Amino acid sequence: MHYVDAKGILSAKNGMNLYRGCSHGCIYCDSRSKCYHMEHTFEDIEVKRNAVELLEDALRRKRRKCMVGMGAMTDPYIPLELELGHVRQALTLIYEHGFGATLITKSNRILRDIDLLQKINERAKCVVQMTLTTYDETLCKKIEPNVCTTRERFEVLKQLRDAGIPTVVWLAPILPWINDTEENISGILNLCIQAKVYGVICFGMGLTLREGNREYFYAQLDRLFPGLKERYMRRYRNQYIIDSPNSGHLMHLFHQTCGTHGIVHSKEQIFSYLQTFEEKPVAEQISLWG
Ligand code: SF4
Repeated sequence: MHYVDAKGILSAKNGMNLYRGCSHGCIYCDSRSKCYHMEHTFEDIEVKRNAVELLEDALRRKRRKCMVGMGAMTDPYIPLELELGHVRQALTLIYEHGFGATLITKSNRILRDIDLLQKINERAKCVVQMTLTTYDETLCKKIEPNVCTTRERFEVLKQLRDAGIPTVVWLAPILPWINDTEENISGILNLCIQAKVYGVICFGMGLTLREGNREYFYAQLDRLFPGLKERYMRRYRNQYIIDSPNSGHLMHLFHQTCGTHGIVHSKEQIFSYLQTFEEKPVAEQISLWG
């Protein structure tokens, strides 16, 4: 871990990453791509020392309330967060200033903050986004080695459901010849149905590879799935978008299953939902607190 002083914290779309780099070890991680100019070792987490002060200042200056996003580039609930508590401090500020929040994570460490998430959601709006890629627990541990498994994430989704906090699942990435099966997609969607998620985001049954993340991914394929790298190289060469050979069938299954069970599956509709700030009417807040 190392510290830096940041100049600003909120992006133009009100997203933020309190940390840069991640220790969850997903073999396909796009944040390793060179284009993001992370000059340090990916696992050597960069901590923005002044992030919480910057956030407080930014929230004070905002003329209109909005949703504040976390986790686009780095999972906010890396193990280090339990030591530093910057995410919790940021959520406290978001709550105190009456803003909404949405976080994307794979970790059940988010449950530490369920009280705050609930309070934000009671006053305004809080949506938790969780990534699910792999129904098979053994396979999940192989491709996402340092974070809790799909079953444990499912338990989180259910707890959030019971706390009245809406959830969105990212069904991505889907890796050709690894988890691009009907069994995998159906298994994950069944968990989403049980957890009553608001929506599932899926850009397509595949992944993206570019300079930085491709080299890392291929090295992990050599280690975990001998022979598969060559198969990828033959079929996809240097393509950025790596679409599963099963994509058409799996996308049909995805849209059909979500449609049947009332899960929102339009990306546009979900992103609009995530970006729309809503304040609860005062009467509703009082009855929730009462
Ligand atoms: S949790 Fe996200 S940021 Fe962290 S390694 Fe996995 S894909 Fe990358």
